[in-house]
Amino acid sequence: MIKFLDLQKINLQFQKEIEEEIIKVYRSGWYLLGEKVREFENNLAKYIGVQETVGVANGLDSLRLILKGYKELGVINEGDEVIVPANTYIASVLAISENGLIPIFVEPDEQTFNIDISKIEEKITSKTKAIMIVHLYGQAIFSNELKLLAQKNNLKIIEDNAQAIGAEWNGIKTGNLGDAAGFSFYPGKNLGALGDAGAVSTNDADLAQTIRTLANYGSEKKYINKYRGLNSRLDEIQAVVLNTKLKYNDQENQKRRAVANYYLNNIKNARIELPKIENCIQNKQHVWHLFVIRCKQRDELQEYLTKNNIQTLVHYPIPPHKQEAYSNYNHLHFPITEKLSKEILSLPISAVLHQDEIKKVVKILNDY
Ligand SMILES: *Cc1c(COP(=O)(O)O)cnc(C)c1O
Repeated sequence: MIKFLDLQKINLQFQKEIEEEIIKVYRSGWYLLGEKVREFENNLAKYIGVQETVGVANGLDSLRLILKGYKELGVINEGDEVIVPANTYIASVLAISENGLIPIFVEPDEQTFNIDISKIEEKITSKTKAIMIVHLYGQAIFSNELKLLAQKNNLKIIEDNAQAIGAEWNGIKTGNLGDAAGFSFYPGKNLGALGDAGAVSTNDADLAQTIRTLANYGSEKKYINKYRGLNSRLDEIQAVVLNTKLKYNDQENQKRRAVANYYLNNIKNARIELPKIENCIQNKQHVWHLFVIRCKQRDELQEYLTKNNIQTLVHYPIPPHKQEAYSNYNHLHFPITEKLSKEILSLPISAVLHQDEIKKVVKILNDY
């Protein structure tokens, strides 16, 4: 069977190096708030090109903490609105609603699956305080118009960079395009830990310090609590895993580009619509966390692939506003988002996908 993602094989590539580092942590007796996390934060900051990063427990927390940090700093208040793409993973929306803020959904562009920047301005009200962009499927989304729009309306740009570590827009890495960004190192992400992990990046030293404090029970000094914080710490073991894998991130992303490029050049089936991108191999705007095709008979195609031992997934079958968890938004209608959710299908893609496997996926798809 061709797995959607073979994590065992991915991590086997770095096994010796990572195991040695893990043993060092094991033997050190120091597991939280230590030098390994600091080292990873410094390396990540250098890699992204930002002043500050803060390791946290997971990707959802990274986004929650950015918004909570802005609330503590008085930039955003309970009941304010945050613009977010309607077709994102639910975590982006949860981070907003968990903070007592209102998500304002914007439709994606059908070609890129990313938020349609031209549809943001009409959604801005006196309550809008931030725009959360999501570099969906690994493709960076940004524009000078977006930056100007945010400046003109005094809005923070928050990046959900869970899927796009290493992607660039105009030579600037995602995570350094807006005011603050959240990262996820969930095992299946391009840079994956051996469990949950996440980080925040920003050039705002006050925000970084606030988030660092919030993530540690709101405490800067032991047993002195400045905020009603939470426990959202990155641990030393995950930090050494990430430190090791970060060194290989560009190389891994480049291998993903090669797989995507092969799919783009060789999948030929009138019923299948491929993602559109120019110069796939050189194009740093996309790190191909997911390779998402479209097909009107998506469920049938997925079943056909399953029968042919090719595992696929749908990211995502039900948009947040149609989830039971958001029954208050179920009446809303976003036709592009809803249509995409019925047509999209994610093919296997990773740095360890074998050439024979890639060829098989192409052949089976072309025979469909
Ligand atoms: C994975 C993901 C998250 C959440 O990350 P976790 O580490 O699972 O909490 C948030 N946003 C997007 C777009 C994601 O893909």
